[in-house]
Amino acid sequence: MAGLDHPYRELRGGRWLKGNLHTHTSNSDGQRPHQEVIDDYARRGYGFLMISDHDIHTSERDYRAFDTRGLILIPGNEVTAHGPHMLHVGAADLVPPHLDRQRVIDEVGTKGGFAVFNHPNWHANFNHCPQELLEFCHEYVGLEIYNGVICRLEGSPYATNRWDILLTKGRRLWGFANDDSHAAVGDVELGWNMVYATEPTPAGVVEALRRGRFYASTGVVIRRIEVEGRRILIETENAARIVALGQGAKRFAQVDAAAIAVEVPAESRYARFECWGTGESFAWTQPFFSA
Ligand SMILES: [Zn+2]
Ligand SMILES: [Zn+2]
Repeated sequence: MAGLDHPYRELRGGRWLKGNLHTHTSNSDGQRPHQEVIDDYARRGYGFLMISDHDIHTSERDYRAFDTRGLILIPGNEVTAHGPHMLHVGAADLVPPHLDRQRVIDEVGTKGGFAVFNHPNWHANFNHCPQELLEFCHEYVGLEIYNGVICRLEGSPYATNRWDILLTKGRRLWGFANDDSHAAVGDVELGWNMVYATEPTPAGVVEALRRGRFYASTGVVIRRIEVEGRRILIETENAARIVALGQGAKRFAQVDAAAIAVEVPAESRYARFECWGTGESFAWTQPFFSA
């Protein structure tokens, strides 16, 4: 039987870094200036951060004006005007927010970065980003499956439904969890990405994210991910339940424990794991694909 393609091969020689790719400053509609935002995330033990102001790019050069406090600062912005919002991660400069979002994705790619669709289920109709657009566009690397600020706005902070529809159709996309922090209080450390970085630099983190070498979290910590053939082991520090989902988001296994070891069904194009903790805490692995 064919094995699995997945982004967690050879997790050796590096370390897990906690990071947020979506935060605003007073350069756009955030309440705090850059340095206060950087200080806040550094104090909380983050390893990397991207300032993502609305259609205002923050470059590596811009970051030199600030004290990094040890954070790896990723250049980027949030593509905002004329359509569904997208993150522009790790690119050299601003891409205009063309109405044609595929053109945005293509230009982001030529500038060395990658694109992520943001908060698809924002607004009362849960449709900030139409599913048809997610299906039409290509070459973006993923979508926000969790966006913290939507906890206090209309719609849902979660978008695993959109992700499963795409994965079921054979798309290979990563799930991101971000704060989308604007306010000085209450918006920070709601959702984050734990990336396995062997090269602790902006380029190294961007490349690891592009390859899916991370998991998304709102509080559950994953300690081990191992794959042998079609068997997957996930070990967490603090999950109370782990759910394994496959084709069509069908749950093919579930345990009330902090770890799971399970065989991915032959008929499933993909498998992914949700690790549920206490309160509203989760960890979401990236998908494992049938080779
Ligand atoms: Zn947005
Ligand atoms: Zn935003």
